[in-house]
Amino acid sequence: MSEKLSFVNPTPNSPWGTYLQQVDRVIPYLGDLARWSETLKRPKRALIVDVPIEMDDGTVAHFEGYRVQHNMSRGPGKGGVRFHPDVTLEEVMALSAWMTVKTAAVNLPYGGAKGGIRVDPKTLSLKELEKVTRRYTSEIGIIIGPHTDIPAPDVNTNGQIMAWMMDTYSMNVGGTATGVVTGKPLHLGGSLGRVKATGRGVFVTGREAARRLGLDLRGARIAVQGFGNVGSVAAELFAEAGAKIVAVQDHTGTIVNENGLDLSKLIPIARTVAGAVSFKGGDVVPNDKFWDVACDILIPAALEGQITAERAKKTTAKLVLEGANGPTVPEADDILAERGVLVVPDVICNAGGVTVSYFEWVQDFSSFFWDEDEINVRLDRIMMNALNHIWDTADKHKITLRTATYAVACERILMARQERGLYP
Ligand code: GLU
Repeated sequence: MSEKLSFVNPTPNSPWGTYLQQVDRVIPYLGDLARWSETLKRPKRALIVDVPIEMDDGTVAHFEGYRVQHNMSRGPGKGGVRFHPDVTLEEVMALSAWMTVKTAAVNLPYGGAKGGIRVDPKTLSLKELEKVTRRYTSEIGIIIGPHTDIPAPDVNTNGQIMAWMMDTYSMNVGGTATGVVTGKPLHLGGSLGRVKATGRGVFVTGREAARRLGLDLRGARIAVQGFGNVGSVAAELFAEAGAKIVAVQDHTGTIVNENGLDLSKLIPIARTVAGAVSFKGGDVVPNDKFWDVACDILIPAALEGQITAERAKKTTAKLVLEGANGPTVPEADDILAERGVLVVPDVICNAGGVTVSYFEWVQDFSSFFWDEDEINVRLDRIMMNALNHIWDTADKHKITLRTATYAVACERILMARQERGLYP
C-alpha cells in the first residue's frame, strides 16, 4: 500500500483516480447540491481484514480482504465481492463508489459497497476456496447484514460462494438470514434471472443505444472483451438479435472470426479451464490485436482501465457498451466523445445485475418468489426508464451519457444527504 494513500490522494492511473475525475466532471451540473459533493470523494467506511486459512498441504496462508462502504445515504450498502490476485483497497474503493452511482442511477433503495480478496482462486482447491470465503465472511460480519450491507457475486465469485457466505453469516447470528447476500443458488433464496441479469441489461441498454444511433443490430459486428457471466450472456443476446460476434478475448487469449463466432460451440468450451482459445472455429491472435479488429460495437466486460487513450484512438466501434466496471480511463472517454463514439457507461449499462439482486432481496424478505417473465419484464422496464431519463439529461446539458448518469445519480444521493443532514 502506498504510504500516501488517502481518500483524496489517488495513485496515478488507478480506478479510484478515474472515479474522482468522473465526479469532478459532474459538479457543474449539481447546482446548490454541489455543496455536498465532497461526500462522494470519500468512502464512508473501509475495513481491511486478514484471512488466514490452513491449506491442504498443512501450511498456513494469509490473504488480504476488504469491504468498503462508500455511501449509505439512500439505503444499505450493496455490491459484489471480487476474488482476484490484483485486488487492492483503492480498487475496491472505486468499485464501491461506482455501486453508489449505479444504484442511484436506476433508483434502487441502496447505497454502494464492494468487497474483495487478493487471491487467485484458480490456485485454490475447492476446500481452500470455501475456507477463504467463510473466514472472510466472518471477518466482515461486523459490518454486513440484510439491512446494512448486502454482498453479491463479482469477478471470480458465484452462487456457491454466496451460499457459503450466507451460511457463515447465518451460523454467526444463529438463524438463516437469506437476505444477507444476493446471487444465491435458487433453492437458497436466489432469484430466477439473476445469473443472466447483467448481460441482459447490457443488451437492453445496447439495443436502445443502437436504435438511437440508427445502427442495425442485424449484421452488426461485435467485439467482446471478457467472456464470463457478463460478456458471454450479452454476446448470446446480441447474436440472437442478428449481430455477429467477430472477436472474443478471455483470460486465455483472443479469438477472431470475421464471419461471426459460433457461440453455441464457443460458450461451452470457454467455460472449461482450456478457455476460449481452445475453440477451433476462429483464429487465435495476440491479445493486443483485439483492439484492431474492425467492429461496430465494442463490449468491454472484463476489468478496469482497458480502454486507454491509444485504444480509444484506433477503435472502429461506433458504440461502446461497458459491461465491466470502470473499463474506460477519463482521457480515453474524451477521445471517444471527440470521435463521436457513443459510450453507454458502466453505471447504467451493467446495472441489470444489481437490479435483479434487488428483486432477490425483496423476494427473500417477502418469502414470495416471482416467475422469470415477471423478473425480466420488470428488469427491462427499470433499465429503459433509467436510460431514457439519463438520455434526456444528456441532451438537455449537451453532455456525455456518463456525465448525465452521474448528474441524475449524484443529485439523488446528495439530496438524500442534505435531507438527512449531518450527525451530530
Ligand atoms: N457485482 C455486480 C456489479 O458490479 C452486482 C452487484 C450486486 O448485485 O450487488 O454491479
